Amino acid sequence: MATGKINVSVENIFPLIKKFLYSDHEIFLRELISNATDATLKLKHLTSIGEAKVEYGNPIIEVKVDKENKRIHIIDQGIGMTEEEVKKYINEVAFSGAEEFLDKYKDAGKEAGIIGHFGLGFYSAFMVAEKVEIISKSYQDAPAVHWTCDGSPEFTITESDKAERGTEIILHVAQDSTEFLDDSKIRGLLVKYNKFMPIPIKFGTKTETLPKPEGAKEDEPAPTQEVDNIINNPNPAWTKQPADLKDEDYKQFYRELYPMQFEEPLFHIHLNVDYPFNLTGILYFPKLTNDLNIQKDRIQLYQNQVFVTDNVEGIVPEFLTMLRGVIDSPDIPLNVSRSYLQADGAVKKISSYITRKVADKLSSLFKNNREDFEKKWNDIKVVIEYGMLSEEKFFEKAESFALYPTVDGKYYTFEELEAKLKDNQTDKDDKLVVLYASDTEAQHSYIDAAKAKGYEVLLMDSPIVPHLLQKLETTKEKLSFVRVDADHIDNLIKKKDTAISKLSEEEKEQLKTELEEVISSKGYTIQLEAMDSQASPFIITEPEFMRRMKEMQRTGGGMFGMGNMPDMYNLIVNTNHELVGEILNTKTAKKRERLINQSLDLARLSKGLLKGEELTKFIARSYEMIK
Ligand code: ADP
Repeated sequence: MATGKINVSVENIFPLIKKFLYSDHEIFLRELISNATDATLKLKHLTSIGEAKVEYGNPIIEVKVDKENKRIHIIDQGIGMTEEEVKKYINEVAFSGAEEFLDKYKDAGKEAGIIGHFGLGFYSAFMVAEKVEIISKSYQDAPAVHWTCDGSPEFTITESDKAERGTEIILHVAQDSTEFLDDSKIRGLLVKYNKFMPIPIKFGTKTETLPKPEGAKEDEPAPTQEVDNIINNPNPAWTKQPADLKDEDYKQFYRELYPMQFEEPLFHIHLNVDYPFNLTGILYFPKLTNDLNIQKDRIQLYQNQVFVTDNVEGIVPEFLTMLRGVIDSPDIPLNVSRSYLQADGAVKKISSYITRKVADKLSSLFKNNREDFEKKWNDIKVVIEYGMLSEEKFFEKAESFALYPTVDGKYYTFEELEAKLKDNQTDKDDKLVVLYASDTEAQHSYIDAAKAKGYEVLLMDSPIVPHLLQKLETTKEKLSFVRVDADHIDNLIKKKDTAISKLSEEEKEQLKTELEEVISSKGYTIQLEAMDSQASPFIITEPEFMRRMKEMQRTGGGMFGMGNMPDMYNLIVNTNHELVGEILNTKTAKKRERLINQSLDLARLSKGLLKGEELTKFIARSYEMIK
């Protein structure tokens, strides 16, 4: 038997390790299984090149919980270690790593935003164990070895009679970590961190039902057998070649990733690069709602099939964090803060690669099956619009597939829209006027009026639309977006045949005075317009600019610093309408006031402004009138 002192300068490193990563204690299991996996893969490699003259077979890794003795065993059938190797790799390498780690992160660890998932290695065992044993038999012809360390820097090494190749790690679970002796806790950790690791991991057994033997009686129960319960899928879809996968395989993998998610993804993007960085993965577009925040943190980050985190902020561009799926890259530094990560060159390249792949996929979906793409538009637009707004590169690429749907369910690309509108929808400065609605119900009468004139009205209802419109207007020349209720339609779009006013100048003056008498106190700016006699007599509008500023203030977190802007409405009165003529000709002031008030309320009703007590009064008054 040999004893020795692990060469560490801190007197007792273990309490430090424990304290240091308190919240992440659970990763000990991931780390030890990673070591077991590495040891197995090393053996696979050595046998494949003929260096190890042993049978590789079908090795597995087994995890066992011994509640009674408060122990956890992790057993592999990998390369194993000789006594020399234990001394070298465990006593020197592992612990010098521990020291280095503490040194490097004792300050950084306090900084919020550190990813918190480091490759802690073997010594993370001491986060949960008061004593650790290693029993190992190398694939080489050497006696097995038994190493024990009780958490002080002293260790012992003796020979062991272990006959099978591989390593068994035994953790004597500390008093404050007994939660890890719970089967369901361990199963949960294995599923979280090791679900897709490349070597099968056994945890307990399960009962499997076998087919009934031929000629078995009707009421005879089917035979059963106990089989290994394998936790993981060692060959997850993302590690395969896209050519070897069918659409159904991708859907199957999605269900494996999100067992609680019943809705199928809309489509997937298979990522696969090895230069200048290494990255594989599959991203899925789920059906998205307009709520930008609730759907984040669904992409899982792996390194060589080991789960790291489901917070990919800084690695994936913000607008794509709404997607789901897996990214696997060994080239993402994890022991740094998020802000550092975003400045890292490799990570920047990864982020722009992902953006490009997503744009390419969308573009090919659009080209190959436009009809299907249009059907999915409503469920994916929030990502695309958000991407257009936040990533310049994506904005440029989106030109070819971003769609602008009309209220009637037609879909245009911007180019098509431009071609469609250029002869019919321009203003007096020859700017293209794109009419849009944000709510087909609330703006129904305005949409109707625009459609009656043969204009196209887009439906733009995502929360970021005001910002996106602003961006489009500044990027494209001679373009303005106006919501259908921003002004009277004939003021928005250059009139071809201007309606001739039926009222003389004096009559208009008189009408204006009469209207002001009743309306001026109500906060509307009155505008007389000679319009089509079929258009409504009174129309309430809200100028595009003011409304948009208000909306941006709401969605942009007050970035314009303008405080609360007042509502500003115009009342447009159609001087060619019969009713307006009647108002002018009414003899008694009382009757005139009634007509004006009733018309104003109808206009407010149409704009959705008549509410509460005023609405109640309006209804009562209307009943009175038809009695
Ligand atoms: P890392 O895995 O990052 O190299 P660790 O501290 O986890 O660092 O392990 C140190 C070394 O100990 C490993 O590089 C490996 O050589 C050896 N080792 C650890 N666990 C095993 C195991 N289960 N089988 C064989 N060798 C192992």
